[in-house]
Amino acid sequence: MIKMSKADLDENELEIIKSVLDDGYLGMGAFTRRFEDELRTYLSTDVACVSNGTSALQLALEAVGVKEGDEVLVPSLTFVATFQAISATGAKPIACDIKEGTFTLCVDDLKKRLTPQTKAIVFVHFASSDETLKDVRTFAKEHNLRLIEDAAHSFGCIGEDNKPIGASGDVVCFSFGSIKNLTCGEGGAVVSADQSVMNYVKDARLLGVEKDTEKRYKSERSWDFDVTHQGWRYHMGNLNAGIGLAQLKKLPGFIQKRKEIAEFYTQNLKKITGITLVDIGYSRIGPHIFCILSQNRDALRDHLTKAGIETGIHYKPNHLLSFYKTPYALPVTEKIYNQIITIPCQTTLTQKDLDYIVHSIASFS
Ligand SMILES: *Cc1c(COP(=O)(O)O)cnc(C)c1O
Repeated sequence: MIKMSKADLDENELEIIKSVLDDGYLGMGAFTRRFEDELRTYLSTDVACVSNGTSALQLALEAVGVKEGDEVLVPSLTFVATFQAISATGAKPIACDIKEGTFTLCVDDLKKRLTPQTKAIVFVHFASSDETLKDVRTFAKEHNLRLIEDAAHSFGCIGEDNKPIGASGDVVCFSFGSIKNLTCGEGGAVVSADQSVMNYVKDARLLGVEKDTEKRYKSERSWDFDVTHQGWRYHMGNLNAGIGLAQLKKLPGFIQKRKEIAEFYTQNLKKITGITLVDIGYSRIGPHIFCILSQNRDALRDHLTKAGIETGIHYKPNHLLSFYKTPYALPVTEKIYNQIITIPCQTTLTQKDLDYIVHSIASFS
C-alpha cells in the first residue's frame, strides 16, 4: 500500500532520542527549551510548546478569554479536533461555510453567523491554504474579534504576506502530530506576539502553576507556588521535543518535496477529465495534504484502494456530526464533501510512486 501520509524518520531522530535518554530526564526540560528557542528564531515571535495541536487550540482560545456562553466561528470543513478544542472551553462552535473555489472560510458566511455572543474566529489553514485569510483578518478587526489560526497543516509554509505561517497574525496554533509536516510524535505549539496570551499558555500548560516554565527548563520545579485559574497537563516533554529538533533540520527539504509533489500532480492531473483541481497557491506552500475533486469520488477511491493506493476524505464536515449538528445547511462545504478525495502526499514517496498514482487515476473512467 502506498501511504497517504507518513512521517519521514531516520538516524537523526534515533541519535537525539539517545541523547535525551542519556540526559535522563524525559519531562519538560532542556530539550523542550531548545526546540522552543529554535521555533522562536524561525518565527521571530514567542512560542509555547504543548502536548498536541488540540491542546494548543484549547489554550489559545482560553488565553483570549473564550468561555462558556461565547460563540466561536469556525469552518465546518476541518478535523473534529478544532471543534472539540472550542467546546472544551465551554464555548459553542458555530459551523461556517468555505468560499466557493477555495477550501477556507467565506467572509460572507461569517457575516451571516455573527451574533452579540461571537467572541472569536478560528481560521483553518486547510491543506496549508491561507487563501481567504487576509479577508478574514480584516473582518475580525472590523468586528473586534480575536482570530485564532489553526495552522496544524501549515508548519514550514510561507503565507501570502511572504512570511512563514505563524510569524504574523493574532494567535497561531500548530500541530506536530505523528503525520504532520513536522512531527514530534505528539506535539503542538501556540505562537503569538501578545505577551498576555503567551503568559497564560505557559502557566495553563503546567496545571496553572504560576511562572514554573523557567524552572522546568532547568529540571527544577516550584514548591511554594500559587494557582489562580484552571490549568491542564498539556506541556511537551524532552523526548517529543528531541524528535522535533531532529525534524527541524530537515524542514526545508520536507517543504521542497511537498511543493514538488503538488507541482507534479497539478501538471499531470489537470489533463484528466473528471478530475477538478483547486489551486491553493502550491508555489508558496508545501501542502500537508493534496485534495482533488471527482464527481465519482467513491468509485475512484475503490479503484485506487484496489491499486494499492491509500486515500482519504478530509473531512466529514463537523456540522453533520451528532454533537455539532446545525439546523442550517452549508452548501459549498456539503458539495465539496461529496467530491473530495485526498491522494498520497508525503516526503517518502518516490517518482515511481507518483507516476503510478497519476497512471492509476488516469486509468479510472
Ligand atoms: C491534526 C489537526 C489538529 C489537531 O492536532 P493534534 O496534534 O492531532 O491534536 C487540529 N486541526 C487540524 C486541521 C488538524 O489537521
